Amino acid sequence: MKASEDLLTFSGPTPYRGRLAPSPTGLPHLGHASTFLTAYRRAREADGVLILRNEDLDTQRSRPEFVNPMFEDLRWLGIAWQEGPDVGGDYGPYNQSQRRDHYLAAWRTLLDRGYLYPCRCSRKDLAAMASAPHENDEDDEPKYPGTCRPLFDADVKNSYDSPAGINWRFRVPDGRAVEFHDRHFGAQQFIAGRDFGDFLVWRRDGMPSYQLACVVDDAAMRITEVVRGADLLKSTARQILLHEVLGIEPPLWYHCPLLKDEQGQRLAKRHDALSIRAMREQGRKPQELVEMLEKRLRH
Ligand code: GLU
Repeated sequence: MKASEDLLTFSGPTPYRGRLAPSPTGLPHLGHASTFLTAYRRAREADGVLILRNEDLDTQRSRPEFVNPMFEDLRWLGIAWQEGPDVGGDYGPYNQSQRRDHYLAAWRTLLDRGYLYPCRCSRKDLAAMASAPHENDEDDEPKYPGTCRPLFDADVKNSYDSPAGINWRFRVPDGRAVEFHDRHFGAQQFIAGRDFGDFLVWRRDGMPSYQLACVVDDAAMRITEVVRGADLLKSTARQILLHEVLGIEPPLWYHCPLLKDEQGQRLAKRHDALSIRAMREQGRKPQELVEMLEKRLRH
């Protein structure tokens, strides 16, 4: 390559790429708004690009009819994105339901590298893992007791062409401290096998898990900083293990404090009255909501 070409292709430090990753399982509420506003601000301050990824993998809980109202509510709040299912972009598709090939390739790599084992446990609660596991919530992935973990290096990689019909788990390195720096909360440490167990990467119903899809997409969409709720700190530790095995450089992390209601409970989608939509219908103005959220976060 000639020196002049070199100059043309060299673009300096990697430009900031952030993302909003809503799941269309209900209308966004104030808790989401607060995290998404932070993500939006951080991308703007860095003069970067914000991507909207529609996390619609959980076929049981996702509803296509929530997608457009979700976009509308976020825009009403003043949040804008430069790439997404509704605006296009170079790293699409931006609906997770259309990205299956990417997830399958990652499943194959993890299997070939000896980190996966099939799990035949039939407990109903183990099957509900497509959505992000939020800590202290019924969604959090229970610590797997290791029932199906093979004692010896079973040669599973040559026995399966596809993940179909069975749950697949990632074997975590027991006792290993997974450490990372959070740009909001500072130094973090979680111990594999103690704070979380062998987690699902693929579900028997044919869906990749949240952990796998998130890692694959953040990498494929060249995300440089992940901004999300503090309830996912432990998931970040799980995801860092996936990054390592897949040979992916992890993004930077910024976890946002969670918004609580008057009783100190984390806001959830079932708090319908606190949806952005309900606020709009009450005649509130976007600026009013933004200021209220900022104030809540300061206390
Ligand atoms: N779709 C996930 C959720 O709703 C996003 C988690 C993430 O930002 O990684 O919690």
